[in-house]
Amino acid sequence: MSSAVTRTALNLLGKPVEELRAILESLGEPAYRGAQIYHALYAERREDFAAMTNLPGALRDKLARHAAIALPRIVRRHRSSDGTVRYVLAIHDGQPANIETVFMPEENRQTICISTQAGCAVDCQFCLTATLGLRRNLTAGEIVGQALVALQDNRTALKPQTNTVLMGQGEPLLNYHSVMAALGILLDPGGVAISPRHAALSTSGIIPGIERLAQEKVRPQLAISLNASSNEQRDKIMPINRKYPLEKLLDACRKYPLRAREWLLFEYVLLGGVNDSPEDARRVVKLVADLRAKVNLIPWNPGQLPFERPHPARVEEFRRILLDKGVLCFVRDSRGQDVMAACGQLALAEAASVAVSAPAGRAPGTLRSASHRGDRRPAHQPWPDHKMEIPTHPGNQHVSPRKRPVHDDQQRQAHS
Ligand code: SF4
Repeated sequence: MSSAVTRTALNLLGKPVEELRAILESLGEPAYRGAQIYHALYAERREDFAAMTNLPGALRDKLARHAAIALPRIVRRHRSSDGTVRYVLAIHDGQPANIETVFMPEENRQTICISTQAGCAVDCQFCLTATLGLRRNLTAGEIVGQALVALQDNRTALKPQTNTVLMGQGEPLLNYHSVMAALGILLDPGGVAISPRHAALSTSGIIPGIERLAQEKVRPQLAISLNASSNEQRDKIMPINRKYPLEKLLDACRKYPLRAREWLLFEYVLLGGVNDSPEDARRVVKLVADLRAKVNLIPWNPGQLPFERPHPARVEEFRRILLDKGVLCFVRDSRGQDVMAACGQLALAEAASVAVSAPAGRAPGTLRSASHRGDRRPAHQPWPDHKMEIPTHPGNQHVSPRKRPVHDDQQRQAHS
């Protein structure tokens, strides 16, 4: 199992192969041993030097003395009746914190939802993670480590395909360097070997990050957490919209150089009586009309939060309006509903219980004011103008396609 990190041990988790080669050379070993460690750690998922039988015994002993593989530690597992497992993980490579990772098994694949920050500074008004504020960015190792822990913990039941979504705690594009370093390992055929087509990064709309992602050679699918049909609506729900308003966000989407078989994904949580009207649907059609886009409609799940699930007829009408206007659209059901509502709260309680030595720095480009945490709203306090709550890409929602078909031809297209 994982090696403990000591003050002096060098944590190898999250290092690219070139760096591992350099580290091994600095230890007086041939550089190719670094590549062997990379293979053992990510391709074979051997999390302990003693299990890396492709290395000589003397080197395994040496590594045990000088280095570590600092995997996140499982603090708690919350198992849903649908098979979803929600993990609370302790990270300790630096400032201690608790984060969440979700493992969702399906018939022929599993999907792992990964956090990229401990807490978040973006301050979406519907998001429980936002009430934590930003504790800190995760390192590449802590991001990759979540996938390794989830895969290892479910190793006896793994399906051939693994999907990963960066939709847990945090705004991935505000931790760009570590996220891309982690994806370099996760999407590397010689590493964890997740196909870029089976990976998605969800953003609240950080335009500079979207522009940087557009330049990457290897990248996941881009998902935009939309959740509103107008600036007025979105300004209230997602204050980031005041900095990156819809017209600029959609302009960045238009300029995003989509590759063959690549789509822009838009997530839209439907809140009963808030953003689920036919007028909203028609505005969404206009917003995405000239984009190669798929829209995921996610009906709000009632829980402890004072918001309402949209009436099924409203969901159907919304969906129908999009489809009739030629917008590829799916209704998604949340996974792990029976552990979700409680888990959002657990995350807060368990995160709060972690000793934090100093306040985390403010991530560049975030909107949160310095006094933000001073006026932290109760997690369940409704937005002043609306009785509403929306989960978007944090651990609050984990979605899978409904079994019933949408339009057969469009369904086929979507899964082709
Ligand atoms: S929805 Fe995402 S970006 Fe917004 S506050 Fe929550 S974690 Fe951060």
